[in-house]
Amino acid sequence: MSLERAGIGMTSARTRDRLVQRLMDQGIQSHAVLEQIRNVPRHLFVDEALASRAYEDTALPIGHAQTISQPFIVARMTEALLSGFTGASILEIGTGCGYQTAVLSPLVKQIYSVERIPEMLRKTRQRLRDLDIYNVQFRPGDGWQGWSKYAPYDGIIVAAAAVELPEKLLEQLAPGGRLIIPVGPPGRQDLTMVTRMNDHFEQVSLGAVRFVPLVAGKL
Ligand code: SAH
Repeated sequence: MSLERAGIGMTSARTRDRLVQRLMDQGIQSHAVLEQIRNVPRHLFVDEALASRAYEDTALPIGHAQTISQPFIVARMTEALLSGFTGASILEIGTGCGYQTAVLSPLVKQIYSVERIPEMLRKTRQRLRDLDIYNVQFRPGDGWQGWSKYAPYDGIIVAAAAVELPEKLLEQLAPGGRLIIPVGPPGRQDLTMVTRMNDHFEQVSLGAVRFVPLVAGKL
């Protein structure tokens, strides 16, 4: 099932256009990213009961006390991640239902994705396969550790909030590479972009956000 076919019927093109327009109004500029928000059938990443709300710009529950990220945040993070380089290999922490993964997939060469809840990962793996997405390798595990096997990465994107910058993720960043991560306690998180320079890291804030916590340790 291709992305386009999967999306037909469930929601009108107009509903998706409205979402894309809203993200443009909020400052998303990358055409590639906006095209992906339009193309990816977000209703297939949530429960059927919530499908009619899939093209609203809100986070929605996906079970296991987790949420699918708000489209604006996915767009913002993806745009920030890709603005620095011609994206080759990306590490994603917090696969969840795989929406961010699907948005990113055609824009980069290879994604390595780590999720803490194996049960969720099993379903997500199948969902992305059904959507003909093949350039992703998955691993159940603790994102605080990154995934050293395929390091270094040109970009790392984290979909859950860390109380501090994870040391291992900084180590696994290639020179010139970028880490996009919400940092801070619940209610006071800052979307942070860290760029690895030759001999130091540069850090800028992209604004306040609200994410589920990046849980420490094994499930
Ligand atoms: N990327 C998803 C959002 C997932 S919500 C989307 O596109 O909508 C955040 C995810 O991070 C959850 O699935 C949660 O289980 C996972 N997570 C939390 N702590 C983690 C950790 N330490 N390592 C890996 N995944 C973690």
